[in-house]
Amino acid sequence: MLTKYVEYLYTIQKKIDGFFENQKPYIFCKEGCSACCKTGEYPFTQVEMQYLMLGFHQLPTETKLKVLAKINELKERYATANKEESFMHECPFLVDDKCSVYDFRGLICRTHGLAFYDANGKLRVPSCIHEGLNYSNVFDPEKNILCGDRWAATGIEQEPVSFNLSRKFLLNNEATKYLELDFGEEKAMIGWLVDI
Ligand code: SF4
Repeated sequence: MLTKYVEYLYTIQKKIDGFFENQKPYIFCKEGCSACCKTGEYPFTQVEMQYLMLGFHQLPTETKLKVLAKINELKERYATANKEESFMHECPFLVDDKCSVYDFRGLICRTHGLAFYDANGKLRVPSCIHEGLNYSNVFDPEKNILCGDRWAATGIEQEPVSFNLSRKFLLNNEATKYLELDFGEEKAMIGWLVDI
């Protein structure tokens, strides 16, 4: 299934890259900024997690040990956490503010930074929008919309757009159907890490 997933990544990454290119005037992502990896639950399917771990196993020993220490610390925190509540945390694969497994990162990681709408049509924006970064010049927080009036005031030609990048879409679309890609079970990242 990993071979099919790699094939899928080639297709979906091209699409996501196109979205980033299209929304360039609103994207302020840069090397060293890791806000998207600092707090979240990070949903991963079995296949995505297998691929991520493939990247982990290829890391130099020193980095691998750093990640392992972070995973162990996280597992300790999780052991005493209220399981009825969401468990938000920094991703343990983030080392020195960089993704240590960048080429192997999950689908959700690949969409970090873009505005998108979820399976219920609700706008989802990157957290850095509240720090004056991505889309902050066109976002109306009260209405939770990318605001046309604010866009007009920027003078930017390219319209700010949210894309269909819901988990439902990422895991089930024309390409996944064509490849007969079965992603397996989906859990928050910690759900997989507890078994490591
Ligand atoms: S896997 Fe990498 S890109 Fe994804 S959340 Fe973790 S550090 Fe960030």
